[in-house]
Amino acid sequence: MLNKINSWIDQTLQNHSNQIISCEHFCSQFNGFYPAEFLANSYYVVIDRLPKPDFPELRQAGFGCYIDMDIQGITYKNTYFIKKGYEGELALHFHELVHVLQWQNLGAQAFIQRYMDEILSFGYQNAPLEKMAYDLQYHFSVKNAPLSIPDYVQNKI
Ligand SMILES: [Zn+2]
Repeated sequence: MLNKINSWIDQTLQNHSNQIISCEHFCSQFNGFYPAEFLANSYYVVIDRLPKPDFPELRQAGFGCYIDMDIQGITYKNTYFIKKGYEGELALHFHELVHVLQWQNLGAQAFIQRYMDEILSFGYQNAPLEKMAYDLQYHFSVKNAPLSIPDYVQNKI
């Protein structure tokens, strides 16, 4: 199953490779949080409908609610997808970039496994990988005190 999801992700990223936008342009807005080099190697795609792996096996395993959930962004490896109309929300970009770092720290297979386990055990709202992203998003939006997000993710993951 992990291999199937991983291949689906690679295919999805390839299918949208001509629509990717580099996060480089967030350099000044995310200064003190995300290094320029990391932003230059992270990407996003603005899209009408977020791509999710809608496999019958996943629905059977209990991921139906997650697959159908109306969310504004989703991250696959170094690229995230943003629902059209939300691309101006800086905090959402900030949130998805936390996930890019989580993917990098854990590696693809381990990220997928852990994310799925967490969704089943805790639900989306309380999944620790999501909580970390929401907490850091809050830190950025509300406190706005510089914090190295790559260091934070590496230490806390
Ligand atoms: Zn998230």
